Amino acid sequence: MIALLPLLMPPTLQNQGRIQDFTLSFGGDLMFEGITPRKQPLEPLMPIFRSSEIACANLESPLTIVKATTKRKSALELRRHQQYILGGNPKFASEISKAGIEFVTLANNHTMDHQTAGLRQDTAVLAGAGIHFAGAGANRSQAMGMTVINSNGTRIGFLSALAFMTPGALYKCTPATSTSAGIMTLNLNGQVHQKWLKQWIVRCKSQVDFLVVGVHWGIELRAKPTPYQVALGHALIDDGADLVYGCHPHVLEGAVLYKGKPILYSMGNLVSPTFATGGIVKLNFQARQLRSCHFLPIMIKFGRAYPLFRDPRAVAKMNQLDREACLKGVDVPIKF
Ligand SMILES: [Zn+2]
Repeated sequence: MIALLPLLMPPTLQNQGRIQDFTLSFGGDLMFEGITPRKQPLEPLMPIFRSSEIACANLESPLTIVKATTKRKSALELRRHQQYILGGNPKFASEISKAGIEFVTLANNHTMDHQTAGLRQDTAVLAGAGIHFAGAGANRSQAMGMTVINSNGTRIGFLSALAFMTPGALYKCTPATSTSAGIMTLNLNGQVHQKWLKQWIVRCKSQVDFLVVGVHWGIELRAKPTPYQVALGHALIDDGADLVYGCHPHVLEGAVLYKGKPILYSMGNLVSPTFATGGIVKLNFQARQLRSCHFLPIMIKFGRAYPLFRDPRAVAKMNQLDREACLKGVDVPIKF
């Protein structure tokens, strides 16, 4: 009878007190603008994502046919290509799900490109395809909500926030407020050690076994993290995050271990209508500790992403970090 007990108990009780091993994969920006679903842009990467417990990406282009362009990006800025409006066919939700990506971050500078109506369709099609998301919602409390995915009894929490430096840059991305829809933003004015930020991270961490914080930050096409990214990454780990997952620069920015916890500064692109290189990081954890990590370079051409199992240039890009600017003697670069 005793031997049968584990079979009769629900999985959550069987695993209580024991953190299971798990593997997380992280890719970069999904930009479906200008790509037709027939391309199946993620199909070549399916075996990579499906071989990890949870695969994550940043959904940069909202999946919506709503045309309600945000007024916060001016016609002049759009004409001068200082700002862009992105979107993607809602059919891509099933493509993301089929590829094995379970979670996407939404706190970025394009999720609100088609305002609240666009966000509603975006989140509805994601939910319909069984894809978890965080970082946007009908108000700030929803946008800062944590998504929890249970992996063999281990509760893994995911947050998503945008952390641009200036109030003007934040405004263009439509931050959620207590009464209006938008994305979760960290309006820190360069001051990363904030009481409310710490309280948010501590509260979320107390509800899960492992906490991933996705941050949309940095400068586009800059291959190394800014001092603000470094300081904020450290602060989030100090407050209780187990992993910081960065996106936005559209290029790889390297990764470090800070107090034994990974900070992926920028994962580059994952799907893009134009030629690009990027990669996927696979991290294996045992009892919350990082045990192994692998970087798999990818190349994006004609709207499809292909694995490049041997590409020394992409690996070198992932390994490049400006020690003086970024490491401050407390980080260990993750070498792939
Ligand atoms: Zn971005």
